[in-house]
Amino acid sequence: MTGLPTFDDALDRVLERITPLAAERVAIGEAAGRVLVETARAQVDLPPFHSSAMDGYAIRSTDTPGQLRLSARIAAGSPSARSLERGEAMGIATGGVVPEGADAVVPLERVAASDDSVTIEAPVPVGANVRPQGGDVRAGEVVARAGVRLDGPLAGALAASGVAEVLCGRQPHVAIVATGSELQRPGTPLAPGHVYESNGVMLAAMLRAAGAVVDDALVVADDRDGHRRALEEGLERDVLVTSGGVSVGPHDLVREVGGELGMEQVFWGVSIRPGKPVFFAVRDRTLVFGLPGNPVSSLVGCRLLVEPAVLALQGAADPRPAFRPGRLGTEVERNRQRDELLRARIDVEPDGVVLVPLDVQESHTIVRSASADALVLIRAGEGVVGAGTPVSYLPLR
Ligand code: AMP
Ligand code: MG
Repeated sequence: MTGLPTFDDALDRVLERITPLAAERVAIGEAAGRVLVETARAQVDLPPFHSSAMDGYAIRSTDTPGQLRLSARIAAGSPSARSLERGEAMGIATGGVVPEGADAVVPLERVAASDDSVTIEAPVPVGANVRPQGGDVRAGEVVARAGVRLDGPLAGALAASGVAEVLCGRQPHVAIVATGSELQRPGTPLAPGHVYESNGVMLAAMLRAAGAVVDDALVVADDRDGHRRALEEGLERDVLVTSGGVSVGPHDLVREVGGELGMEQVFWGVSIRPGKPVFFAVRDRTLVFGLPGNPVSSLVGCRLLVEPAVLALQGAADPRPAFRPGRLGTEVERNRQRDELLRARIDVEPDGVVLVPLDVQESHTIVRSASADALVLIRAGEGVVGAGTPVSYLPLR
């Protein structure tokens, strides 16, 4: 592991190997969380007609102030069959179609109404309380671009624009294999020397949140047969993620057994702390990520490399981790060799985001780490980084 790549370079090498999965049509009601692979445009103007912004009366501006004859009442969804004449007012509900001939709506509370007339004391300007047709979007305009991951508001915007189905990248199928003879699933008392398995649980949840379908979450002991069976099965998926067993110990079998199964190693080792012994390989169309077993190393490797790969497979235009600017809350010492990702709390101060590194930064402290809001990037180098220094951070939640 000499001359290790930085995580940015490592991610380049991962993304180079990715061909987005096939596209499929998805009903708009199911599309939030999916990556759009074809730009979606409005099918209609929005609003589709001049629509009333208030409960009130549709009128002609030039008739105000004055007393107007009250005729029809227009409910939302039921347009008036005829035009509004001079000297006339029509009752109208919010979202109702402003009739031909009307150019303004006066709110209920600004008129004195009887059964057959309304009296308007003040002039009402043209366009008052009317939402113009196409004021939000025009038919044919872009609502969401190819490569964006849809969220609830964007899916709602597409539905409002008349889009019933969108073209999305297929969701990658993922297998997770946690290795370690000491691992035990929670639910029974811990046997001597055992620890509860947590990486598989964490990785499955993180990757599902990135759009993956997790087919298998296996736990295997440190023996060749167990590794072989689990890795063979995992290699049938789009992505195989392993945890543990990628260092240099005699029980670290993932790379060796993987090699026997035809995995081509792309890199082993990245210049990050924690997470250095991470490896990446490919076999046929399967991407293989070997994450170190220390839970925080697994978390960092997943956030920096695996989540972006899962997004890229779905066709995301910008799958890289989106670092944001903040300031360091307390001084920290740089690591000489490796870029460090410190777990930190986010404090939102009046002049911006302040990142306060947790007191304990060791890579086995998953419970403490789980309270962190962010990973703060401290580039390798000499000396200390003082409190108040601008830094980049990656939100964790
Ligand atoms: P390894 O990378 O296999 O050498 O594991 C490093 C450390 O992480 C050891 O203390 C393991 O017990 C722990 N570890 C490995 N895998 C898991 C896991 N899936 N869940 C929780 N801890 C793990
Ligand atoms: Mg192990």
